[in-house]
Formats: sequence, C-alpha cells, structure tokens
Amino acid sequence: ARSKTNPPNFVGGGFVRVRGAREHNLKNVDLDLPRDALVVFTGVSGSGKSSLAFGTLYAEAQRRYLESVSPYARRLFHQMAVPDVDEIDGLPPAVALQQQRGSPTTRSSVGSVTTLSNLLRMLFSRAGTYPARQPHLDAEAFSPNTPAGACETCHGLGRIYDVTERSMVPDPSLSIRERAIAAWPPAWHGQNLRDIVTTLGFDIDKPWRDLPKKDRDWLLFTDEQPTVPVYAGFTPAEVKRALKRKDEPSYMGTFTGAKRYVLQTFAASESPLMKKRVQQYMLSRDCPTCGGKRLKRASLSVTFAGLDIADMARLPMQRLGEILHPYATGARSITIKNHPEKEIVAQRVAEDLCNRLGVVLDLGLGYLQLDRSTPTLSPGELQRLRLATQVRSNLFGVVYVLDEPSAGLHPADTEALLRALERLRQSGNSLFVVEHELDVIRKADWIVDVGPDAGERGGRILYSGPVAGLAQVEASATRRHLFTEATGKQRTPRAPKDWLRLAGVTRNNLHGLDAAFPLHTLTTITGVSGSGKSSLVSQALVELVAQQLGHEIPADEEESDELERAQAAATKGKIVAGMDAVKRLVRVDQKPIGRTPRSNLATYTGLFDHVRKLFAQTKLAKARRYDAGRFSFNVAKGRCETCQGEGFVMVELLFLPSVYAPCPTCHGARYNEKTLEVTYRGKNIAEVLDLTVDAAHGFFADETSIEHSLSVMREVGLGYLRLGQPATELSGGEAQRIKLATELQRAQRGSTLYVLDEPTTGLHPSDVEKLLRQLDALVEAGNTVLVVEHDMHVVANSDWVIDVGPGAGEEGGRIVATGPPAAVAASKDSRTAQYLLRALA
Ligand code: ADP
Ligand code: ADP
Ligand code: ZN
Ligand code: ZN
Repeated sequence: ARSKTNPPNFVGGGFVRVRGAREHNLKNVDLDLPRDALVVFTGVSGSGKSSLAFGTLYAEAQRRYLESVSPYARRLFHQMAVPDVDEIDGLPPAVALQQQRGSPTTRSSVGSVTTLSNLLRMLFSRAGTYPARQPHLDAEAFSPNTPAGACETCHGLGRIYDVTERSMVPDPSLSIRERAIAAWPPAWHGQNLRDIVTTLGFDIDKPWRDLPKKDRDWLLFTDEQPTVPVYAGFTPAEVKRALKRKDEPSYMGTFTGAKRYVLQTFAASESPLMKKRVQQYMLSRDCPTCGGKRLKRASLSVTFAGLDIADMARLPMQRLGEILHPYATGARSITIKNHPEKEIVAQRVAEDLCNRLGVVLDLGLGYLQLDRSTPTLSPGELQRLRLATQVRSNLFGVVYVLDEPSAGLHPADTEALLRALERLRQSGNSLFVVEHELDVIRKADWIVDVGPDAGERGGRILYSGPVAGLAQVEASATRRHLFTEATGKQRTPRAPKDWLRLAGVTRNNLHGLDAAFPLHTLTTITGVSGSGKSSLVSQALVELVAQQLGHEIPADEEESDELERAQAAATKGKIVAGMDAVKRLVRVDQKPIGRTPRSNLATYTGLFDHVRKLFAQTKLAKARRYDAGRFSFNVAKGRCETCQGEGFVMVELLFLPSVYAPCPTCHGARYNEKTLEVTYRGKNIAEVLDLTVDAAHGFFADETSIEHSLSVMREVGLGYLRLGQPATELSGGEAQRIKLATELQRAQRGSTLYVLDEPTTGLHPSDVEKLLRQLDALVEAGNTVLVVEHDMHVVANSDWVIDVGPGAGEEGGRIVATGPPAAVAASKDSRTAQYLLRALA
C-alpha cells in the first residue's frame, strides 16, 4: 500500500475540470478532480453519485470517443447520452466497468471475458503434447465455437438433443384432437396442423396408441412437408367430401412433423418462451463422441501437463494457476525433440497466463472455472472479472469508472480489490469509483461527497478533497459513518427456539452438508466470495422449501439458458424439520423487475392500479367514459401509438448494442394527447408518473392505500425514485428494494420465509440502518429472514450467523462457525470472525 506521508501522486497528473453539471438531480455543480488518482464518490443512495460519475463524466468521455469514430452512431447517441454540463476539461478517455442495469447479458464464459481462453488455446496449439504423427493444430482448433474445433456430432454444444415418441406424446390415451402430440405448437398453429392431418386422411379421434405404428412414426418423425388443402372447421367426413368434389379450400397448409418442429424451434427460434416450451419435449444427454467436451477428437488428443484443454477449462482457476506455475518459472519445461523454440514459447505463454490468473485470484475469483458461463455469475463477480482483465491490459492514461466494485466481496477480499485498483493507478490511469464500503473510501486519494440527501434534496457537492477533510463537513451523512467508531451499543440477539433443518445437501461445492436455520429470527449467512452461501441458501434451501410447499420456482424466462439448465445438477438433500412453521417462501433478489421500459416501480408494486382508478373517477374521464384501462400505457386506447406506450423507441445500431431513444411523438410521455387532457389535482397521468416517491407521498397524502405503499418505499430508501422510472434504469440493489417494499406493504400473516441476497448493495450506511429496521419488523411479525450478506454492520445486528467456508470453491462448502454474532466473532477458524469482531466493538 502507498504511504500516506508521501505527497499525493496525483499532483503531477493535473485535474479534470467540470463546470455546470446538471444531469438528473445535479444542481449545476462545479468540480475539480485529480487525475492519476483513486477518486471515490460517496453519498446516500440517489444523491447523484452515478449521475456525476457515469451520467456526466463517463457519458462525456464516451460521446467524445464516438464523435471520433462514426457520424452515424454519433447522431443516435446524441439524443441519448449528451450529458447536461457546460464544460469538461482535461478528461481522459474512459472505460466503464459498470454493473449491468437490467440489460440482457450476452452469452459468454469466464474464459472469453478474461481472454484467458485465447491464451490457453495458444498454449495448446504451440506447446501441447501431440500424439505421434499428428500435425500441430491452429489455436482455433481448440475452440468449440469454430468449425475447426467443434465436435461434429454435437456441433460444439457438448450435448445431444433428441426426441422420442414418449417425449413428444406423453399421454398416448389421448387422440390427436385431444392434443396427443403435446410437442406440436399450441393455439392456431396447432389447430392448423390438426386440420392438415385430417386432410391427409389420418384419424384424429382415435386414441394415439391405437393408431398404426407406421402412421405414428410418420406424424412424428417424417421430414416430408406436404402442402395440402385445408377446410377449416369441417368434420373429417365433410373434409373427405370436399376433397372429392375438389371444393375451394379455406387455404393451403403445410405439414411439419413433430420432431422437425421441435428441433427447428429449439435451434432457430428467437423467442426464449418458445424454446422453453419445446425443450420439455426433448431429451438431452452428453454427446457420445466428445463426452460433453465440445471439441473434435483430434483437438482433445492434445494435452498439456497431462490434461486436455476441456479438462483445464473445468478446473478452478486457482488450480489452473498451480499447474501452470512451474512451467512459467521454468522449474518445469516441456521438451519437444528438435524444437527448442517451443520450450520458450511454452514458458512465455504460461508466464503470461499465470500473471493474468494472478490478478483474478487476487480479486477473490480463483474458485471460478474458465468454462463457467457468465449468466450464472453475479454482477459483482462479472465486474471484478472485467477489472482483472483491465489490470493486465496495459492501457494507460485512461479513466476507469466503476460502480461499487466491493459488491459481493467479503471484507477479507476487499484488500485485494484495493491492490488491483492501485495497480491500475500506478500504470498511469485514473479511477472514478462509486462506493459505499468504508474500507474502500478510507483508501481513496480523494473523495467527492454528494448530498446531502437523495433526489431533489441531493445533487450538491458537499465536499471534494482528501479523505481527512470530510471530518469538517457537518452536512455529510458519510462523515458520521466514516469518522465515528461503532456505537458499542450491542443489541441482544433473539435466542432461536425452532429450526429449519436441511440434511445431506449436495450442490456445486456443497457435498452432503447438514445445516440448521433458526426460525422466527434474522439470520445472516457469511463467508468469502465463492464459499457456497448462494449454493446453500439461494439455490438449495430455496429449491427444497419451494418443493415442499408445492411452489414452482418462478423461472426467469429471458434468462433461462436451455443448455445451462440441462447441465445444472439438481440439488440433492432434504428438509428434515421445521417446515410446519413455513407457509410461504419469498425470495427478494437483485434480478431486474422487468427488462423493458414498460415495467416500473408503480406497475410492479401495484400502486399504479390505484392511481389509474383515481384518474378514471375524475369528471372529465367519466364524461368521456374513460375507464382505468385508458390510463395504462400497456393498453392501446390511451397510449401513444408510435412507441406503444414505452416512451422510447428501440434504435438498432450497426456493430453496437441497440439503444432506446425518446419517442419522437410523445417525447417520453407514453400517452396520446386525449389521455393527457385528463388531470387529477392539476397533473396528468404522465406527470404523476414523473413524480418521485417522496413528492407523490405528499400529492396522495389522503389516499390511504397509495400513501401506505409510498411510505414503505421511502422506508427502504427509495424516496428519490420516480414512479415511472423504467426498470431498465434501475440498479440491481434498487430492484431488490422495490421487491422488498412490495412485500412489506402486504398484510403480514407471519410464517413466511424471506431469503435475501446482499440487500445492502448500493446502500449508503445510513440506508443500511433503515433496511435493518425493516428486516427486524418482518421478524417481529412472525416471519423468518435469511440474508446472505457481507456488510458486517448487518451481520453484527442479526440474531444468528452461519459462516460458510473456510475458503472458496472446493476449499469451502462447509459450515465453519454458527451461533449468535458474538460467538462467531470469537471463532478461531472463521475468516469472518475478525471483521465481525470489529463491527461488534
Ligand atoms: P446515486 O448514484 O447517488 O445512488 P443517482 O445518480 O443514480 O444516485 O440518482 C440521482 C437522482 O437522479 C435520483 O433522483 C434518480 O432518481 C435520478 N436518476 C437516476 N437515473 C436517472 C435517469 N436515467 N433519468 C432520470 N433520472 C434519473
Ligand atoms: P458464494 O455465494 O458464497 O459466493 P456460491 O454458492 O456462488 O458462493 O459458489 C460456491 C461454488 O459453487 C463456487 O465454486 C462456484 O463457482 C460454484 N457455483 C455456484 N453457482 C454455480 C453454477 N450456477 N454453476 C456452476 N458452479 C456454480
Ligand atoms: Zn460432441
Ligand atoms: Zn410515444
């Protein structure tokens, strides 16, 4: 770590000068930020940190960059991302490492994000051990995504998908009319196929199992696609007659066999829902040729250190590093007859790999495998992977803009994060970081405290300078937490009486684990990143409890990845006690509340239904016979037709991700003019959606049910959000708090099990206090709350702690310590203990 007695290094780097920044809630602020320094933006949630770091500084850097590349893209981006600021000087090019906000993830793996896969392929290509007489292969022959590498049987998927009569016709006692061929499409298209089959002369009223085998096989497996006349609505006898008379058909229809339909839809459909539907009629198994390794035999016959490349990609990176290390240092070397240069190549590539792996391990991600797909990673893990990649990218003179890089990090791993940031800075870069974690804030060269409060009551710069100076700033909420030690006031944890007991849990890195969760208490689950907290709680426990309750676990349609699902091993284990106290299961996670601008806080919480009723009851609405539906932007009558009520139109960009631009007709209002003529207390529906929760709370003060849900929203620190703020603009933490508020506004019946995953993400310490009070209230109302959490303040204030570890991946997966906070803080084996002890002091 850098010595604080030296003059700060950034003195030589000059300053970024910002004048007149007004993006979102920023109050026309001026600011000078040092370059080549670690600058941390602090302040309560909604105060304007992101508006400054991302909305102004990054947006401006990006705009300048785009200006230099493509006039076409520039035009489109101009409508989007020109920050509201008078002037910015001295701004270097910027790279944003932002946690995704509701944007769909593209499919990739840890290896591709980090570019480590490329290096590994190069290693195998140049320095692998080849069987005698096999020629050397190009690097791309080691990638399952290229024709040169992909296994011919499974086309690089690793799995074979197939259908059988049983998989497509689950109930053979049904007739075709009764939808015996369940795999066929539903609705109109299915009816169409039945009509075609009638024309073709099949009996659609006989039970499936009574049809001749020849017919059954043809209907399911043929590749023929005859086009025949269709007589819609005719009985089989009428069809026969019509065919004989050569009557004019309703239309001509084309037959598709069930197998062909299923496989084609699975391979080619753009709709995740359709894919999911047909997937249930398919069987899948590991590809027999490559054994699930996705590569050609020839590629798999090449080894390094005795392993093929697929085996290597399945190792935790920690282990991979250990294997490669001796080759990198030259302690071991490969020997290839007559090719001394190969030895050098092997050493160089291994060295590069080890250096890059080192950064990944440093950031606490050594438990991940290269072939792990990115959609299964948490946003925090993904951001740190990107960070690790940047640390080795040898860029300099760049400003990195980061969004809470400590999210998902155990305090033990935060040190490593700081080291990585320091390395980036030392290679001549600037770092602008939005962060709540006090340990990170303390290490900053410079902090910018935004506040004093959220939304309209924020947006000012309370302080800008070295950390120590903040101590003088009375108005700062950050100051209180940064400079005052823990209160010393220890609450008395509730003593657990009853337990929810799990036995023999096997999942990811958990192997036959027994675990006991106290009921009617607030329990925190701790442990380093990758130790198995989510595997135990968010995955195993949630699945087992849902099973017992007979709940379906709501699948995320958009996110579900067929390949992933097929491969994901199911949880093994069972619940042996405590289910009588659990009537309901509620997961409050960070998944977006929607993926289009159509979902927002008001629609998600149900609050909008009430608001629309109020509008429908106004005089004008009654006179015009507008019902509540008229005021929904999802219903054709009232919404703007250009954007179909989204307020935005999607703009497809060549070579760039598509973007949303404001609708040219309604300019974001979402409604048509007629609808907007109706006002309630002087505001039309679009203006109401534009109110913040805080403002709406005053506006609807006498409407009890609306007021009630708005109060809850304020209590979880969401007062600054606008009612209609699109889901696509919300962070994971905000989405999670909206879900929590929605739950809290429900009548409390008790006996509910709440499972939360790091609810403090995006929360300032002041907001964490509020959150704790809410969680406590849930327990008081007779519920059980389980929280996976790194924030030691929350852990110290819980009733019970379950510490998972001791390490990550296969070095974790056990319960290291469990008990009231004070007991776990005293544990010798727990890596959490020392940090918890400090929080309890
Ligand atoms: P912080 O990063 O400190 O949590 P933000 O910069 O995200 O705060 O938000 C500051 C204010 O700007 C809030 O009132 C928020 O609702 C508003 N805001 C954030 N994003 C947008 C957006 N895309 N459009 C309009 N207002 C926004
Ligand atoms: P934590 O929640 O403590 O960070 P996890 O439960 O996410 O830890 O991870 C524990 C181990 O299980 C890690 O080695 C991780 O790589 C692995 N793991 C977690 N989720 C998945 C998944 N969906 N697919 C494969 N491995 C997983
Ligand atoms: Zn294969
Ligand atoms: Zn519009």
